[in-house]
Amino acid sequence: MSAYRKLNASINLKPRIRAAFVVAVLLSVVPPLTYATVSIGYLGRHVAFVAQLQAARLSKYIYTQETMWQYQRVRLAEILELDESQLAETQLTVFRANGRKILSVGTDPGRLNLSRSAPLVSAGKLVGRTEVSIPLAGLAFQVLGLAVLSTLFGITAYFARVRPLRSLNTAVRQLEDFSDSLRRRTAQLYEAQALGKIGDWSYDFGARNLWWSDEVYRLLHYSRNFVPSYGAVLSLYAGDGARRLIESQVQARRDGTISKIDLRARRGDGSIGHFAVTTKTRYDDSGNAVGIYGTIQDISDRKEAEAQLEQLAYHDPLTGLANRALFQRRLDDMIDRCMRKASNGALLLLDLDRFKDVNDTLGHTTGDALLVRIAHLLSRTLGNQHFIARLGGDEFAVVAESATGDLDWQAVAGEVLKVISGTTMIDQVDIAIGTSIGIARVPDHGACVTDLLRNADLALYRAKEEGRGRYAVFEPGMDEAVQRKVAFASDLRAALQDDLGLMLHYQPQIDLATDRVKGFEALIRWNHPTLGPISPSVFIPIAESSHLICDIGHWVLRQAVLQAKAWLDAGAPPREVAVNVSVAQLWGTDLVTDVGQVLAETGFPPELLCLELTESLLVDQEETRVRSVLKALKAHGVVLALDDFGTGFSSLGYLTQLPFDKLKIDRIFIDGVTGSERRTELLRGIIGLGRGLGMTTVAEGAETPEEVALLRELGCDVVQGFVFARPQPAEDALGFALRQDGAALGAAEARHEVAAASGRRARR
Ligand code: C2E
Ligand code: MG
Ligand code: MG
Repeated sequence: MSAYRKLNASINLKPRIRAAFVVAVLLSVVPPLTYATVSIGYLGRHVAFVAQLQAARLSKYIYTQETMWQYQRVRLAEILELDESQLAETQLTVFRANGRKILSVGTDPGRLNLSRSAPLVSAGKLVGRTEVSIPLAGLAFQVLGLAVLSTLFGITAYFARVRPLRSLNTAVRQLEDFSDSLRRRTAQLYEAQALGKIGDWSYDFGARNLWWSDEVYRLLHYSRNFVPSYGAVLSLYAGDGARRLIESQVQARRDGTISKIDLRARRGDGSIGHFAVTTKTRYDDSGNAVGIYGTIQDISDRKEAEAQLEQLAYHDPLTGLANRALFQRRLDDMIDRCMRKASNGALLLLDLDRFKDVNDTLGHTTGDALLVRIAHLLSRTLGNQHFIARLGGDEFAVVAESATGDLDWQAVAGEVLKVISGTTMIDQVDIAIGTSIGIARVPDHGACVTDLLRNADLALYRAKEEGRGRYAVFEPGMDEAVQRKVAFASDLRAALQDDLGLMLHYQPQIDLATDRVKGFEALIRWNHPTLGPISPSVFIPIAESSHLICDIGHWVLRQAVLQAKAWLDAGAPPREVAVNVSVAQLWGTDLVTDVGQVLAETGFPPELLCLELTESLLVDQEETRVRSVLKALKAHGVVLALDDFGTGFSSLGYLTQLPFDKLKIDRIFIDGVTGSERRTELLRGIIGLGRGLGMTTVAEGAETPEEVALLRELGCDVVQGFVFARPQPAEDALGFALRQDGAALGAAEARHEVAAASGRRARR
């Protein structure tokens, strides 16, 4: 039973109200009744006395008139009216012994009256009686008046008594309701605290007394026997938790605010949890701080969820490395630190070499496994000192910083190149790995994330251009160069789309055995709308790096074959047309199908189409792959030439196994060869090698007749050089061919005639 219910019971309201009612009724009834009773008693005695008095008087007279008195009414009336004061409002009536009325004097008292009689005795004998009646209407009015007044008094007394009782009752009921709701809410609060894992605590400065609610014991896994003390509690907090808690509580006390802090704490069972502790200061009436109190909430679940969210939001699900979002934050932090401490840092952007090939040839699962392996290699090498992220695809980033402030970024780049090099085994397949790195340093190359990223990217671009597997550091001019290239690339794309400004020139190739034009090399020309003619050695690399080369290559192939077919159709003798094929085209498109389609579409004889491939096709590619592509091309019946021979990496052993028909000896071997014995020998060796392998040798870039004469002497088959003709528009090239063939024919005939004449001379 609650205190309020007890209070209500002790007040005992109903009997009290009943008693008040009884008192009120008594107060209303008793005074008029008493008054009426006393008055009637008094009047009764008075009237009886008067009746006796009159009876005594009449008795005396009756005694004298023993027989006649009954008829002497006047006399009797006189006797009775003797005392007039008595007759006022009084009626006196005389009755015979037999009860018959003799006379009445006085005023009729009305129906409401008080009567008393007295016997008339004469000579000891009852002869009649007198009756005195007085009206009671006046008394009745008085009693009524008194009753009204006393009733009013009674009612007043009742309410005066009952109202406070009712108010008290209402107050008690309200109090009871309030206490019920308070109890309910307290229960709910405890339940909520248990659900929300919140407990409250307080600490008293004076008594140095720390109090925990039940929930705190539960949260911290301590039994109720444990008596918490401030010092013991501080030791629960892990790391620098105790210091941070004290700081937060000192602040709460100083500022009078609620302080809140998240801490890790060791529970009673040894497990570690995360807790949010709030602190508020308690003051006495004079405003002095007397203690602190607050709550402690177990937020381990929330922290775990936060950690998972953070992992999801800021990490790459494949490799587990930080993703771009976290990378940008960490890069920003690093820049900030470097600026504040005047130290050095660097951003290294990595782009894996040949990753696309792995994906294309071995499938995405192997590609993914390779990315995981690279992430692992990077983490193992740099993880402890530097921050590593995967920005997407095969792009990784390293935010490098030195604890001492002076970063050896070259060493970091060197380590990365070292670890991502050679081969790695995935699913029992050896995969070649390599990376290009672009580096931008802090603060020299940028003081914000955007600048650093852009500059590292420019450096990466340079590293890739310079031939992969290396790093390049940002230099101020790079930006402009890249901008120019980007602009070029976009102009080039427009030219290709609109078929405007791009055309093919044809450079004749002279067969040294016949001096006739054996074929033409198709060479692309670009007339830029504002800059004029641009050399292919400038825009082809741009087209290669912007992936435009595949479209350009396809366009060139089609145009060249159409042109050569047109010449054939016009009756020109069959001559070969050579088309340059970029390596990107070879691996980036289905060149084999494209070639087949163009041949089928035009009906051009495949043996008259020569595809020129450079040695760079051998770089970065597996032998089997190269061989299978070349074999597929050869299956179309086309001729394959190895262009620019001698300028790049070539393993001779490797070369001998590939199905090339022609060897195009690069210009550098021809240039200046006539004046140098050593170079002549070198050239002789190359030509000998080609011939030895059964290839047609083509010398590029012969500019003088001496060079041609030497080449002829060394056994070279074909020459392509300015000495005969420059690359020129189709019509001019055909015109040259006709003239050259005519001249060759003329020369042959002349030679024939000379030979015949000398024969004739000899016979003579
Ligand atoms: P390349 O395939 O080795 O072509 C031969 C280059 O040597 C041509 O330069 C040609 O004009 C030049 N040349 C020929 N004879 C002489 C000479 O006697 N003296 C000098 N100094 N140069 C001579 P061009 O046309 O500027 O082409 C340069 C390179 O651009 C080509 O080298 C080729 O690698 C590339 N290229 C040209 N057209 C195409 C194309 O349609 N597709 C692809 N992928 N590359 C092309
Ligand atoms: Mg060529
Ligand atoms: Mg060449």
